[in-house]
Amino acid sequence: MTYQIDELLNTAPCGFLSFIDDGTIVIANATLLELLGHEPDGLRGRKIESILPIASRIFYQTHFFPLLKLHGKAEEIYFSLRPRQGSDIPMLVNAVRREKAGSFVNNCIFIPIRQRIQYEDEILQAKKVAETAIRAQKQAEIALRQQYERAILLREISQRIYQFLDLSKIFEIASHEIRELIHADRVGIFKFSPNAHHNDGEFVAESVLKGFDSHLATKIHDHCFGKQYASYYRQGRIQAVDDIDNAGLTECYRGFLAQLQIRANLVVPLLNGGDDLWGLLYIHQCSAPRHWQEIEIDLIKQIANQLAIAIQKADIFQKLQKELAERQQAETRLTESNQQLAFSNEELACATRLLEKLVNIDGLTQIANRRCFDDRLEQEWARLYREQEPLSLLLFDVDYFKRYNDSYGHQLGDECLTKLAQAAQQVVWRPADLVARYGGEEFVIILPNTDQQGAMAVAERIHLAIKALGIPHQTSDVSDVVTISLGIAVLIPSPELSPAILIAQADQALYCAKKQGRNQSVIYPPPYQLGYGGDIVSPSTKE
Ligand code: GH3
Ligand code: MG
Ligand code: MG
Repeated sequence: MTYQIDELLNTAPCGFLSFIDDGTIVIANATLLELLGHEPDGLRGRKIESILPIASRIFYQTHFFPLLKLHGKAEEIYFSLRPRQGSDIPMLVNAVRREKAGSFVNNCIFIPIRQRIQYEDEILQAKKVAETAIRAQKQAEIALRQQYERAILLREISQRIYQFLDLSKIFEIASHEIRELIHADRVGIFKFSPNAHHNDGEFVAESVLKGFDSHLATKIHDHCFGKQYASYYRQGRIQAVDDIDNAGLTECYRGFLAQLQIRANLVVPLLNGGDDLWGLLYIHQCSAPRHWQEIEIDLIKQIANQLAIAIQKADIFQKLQKELAERQQAETRLTESNQQLAFSNEELACATRLLEKLVNIDGLTQIANRRCFDDRLEQEWARLYREQEPLSLLLFDVDYFKRYNDSYGHQLGDECLTKLAQAAQQVVWRPADLVARYGGEEFVIILPNTDQQGAMAVAERIHLAIKALGIPHQTSDVSDVVTISLGIAVLIPSPELSPAILIAQADQALYCAKKQGRNQSVIYPPPYQLGYGGDIVSPSTKE
């Protein structure tokens, strides 16, 4: 069997040697032959032991070859090879065992240790350079992280976010701060329209570097978004596209982004608690593609979380305000109806007063009626009982009034009664005094805190006032004008007495006045009699 060597392998910068299982060398490349000082083909057919010093020969027989047979390969084994001249050369051997045309051949690569050390030095050097570079990158990353963290702390984005309850203000500040912080071209907030299944929305806040378009207040309709992306964002996932031309985007979507002047795109969801996708926080690089660093993505996520809290707070605040407004409206309505009620209460009170007045006023004479008199007498009786003060009652009756009606007619009779009532009313002055129509052509006067003397004075004034009216009465036996007869009773209320007794006494006195000739006053107990001028006259004097 002949073994050929590839030209490349022949001149490779390492030694190559193949031997069969009995140790016969079948191939040695030119590099190895040269290293060991042999002619071309100088080792073919010789045993491998011939180029091994004694220690390596033992190692070959006891370890190297048995291992190679067992595993089919041997890696990084140290050997020494013996050149034709000079000292042994330390080598590193890698070997594999292959089957070829039914027999095995063992292929070995030899690298002189000196050479390896040199390689290793270079590798070490390269490693050091790489490590320095990695360290520098790490330091740069740490510096960037620190810068961002400082930025978060010092600029107090979060504090600024929480300072306001006005969402548009928060968005405006956040967009501006983020854009400045990470040197982006455009940062903004996109809000989905409620109940539009995430297919419609609007750019509600934006900060744009001069020279690029703003999309603020632009309305967007994308019938694919709700179906394709909403659930993705709802899970809190973000989209980071370094270069829209090399991100495997659909042509339609790429075109959409390009239309908005976007080259690189970072989009973070804004969730209003749980998985309610409220909107998106977006960062655009318009001038060129941009690799979004993890630290930047982290930072934006943090800010998005804070914005989400602000959105939630504003949402709650809005709901509270709405509730408050509704409550205020309800209160206003209540106040209005209360006012209406109060108004109608007042009307009612007014009507009641009027009614009371009507109930207590005599329809013909327009002075107090009998009912009013009864009530007032009760009240005054009780009050004067407490005060132990006198209560005077005057009862008067028109003389020969039947005849008056007969002579002048009932209508003039009525007019006459009205005039008499008004005249009597004019001569009682105290607020507590009351003139009332007792019935028919009889009138009664209550004079609280008034003794006999006072009562007689009032009686006299009434006689004079009626006389002064000068109402002609041709058929009267006592005068040619209308006159009255009057009975007076005075009592200090006490338990054994009553208003009824007071009335009865006045009535008795009146009866006496009539009986004694009319046109006069009589004080109970009779037979005392008052003349026209108030003098007390004995009944016998007149008769
Ligand atoms: P005396 O001096 O004894 O009182 O005689 P008199 O005619 O006044 O007495 P009498 O009781 O007999 O008559 C009272 C009359 O008063 C009867 C009635 O026609 C009249 N009278 C009572 N009430 C009214 C009224 O409201 N209007 C008019 N016009 N007359 C009335
Ligand atoms: Mg009478
Ligand atoms: Mg009469």
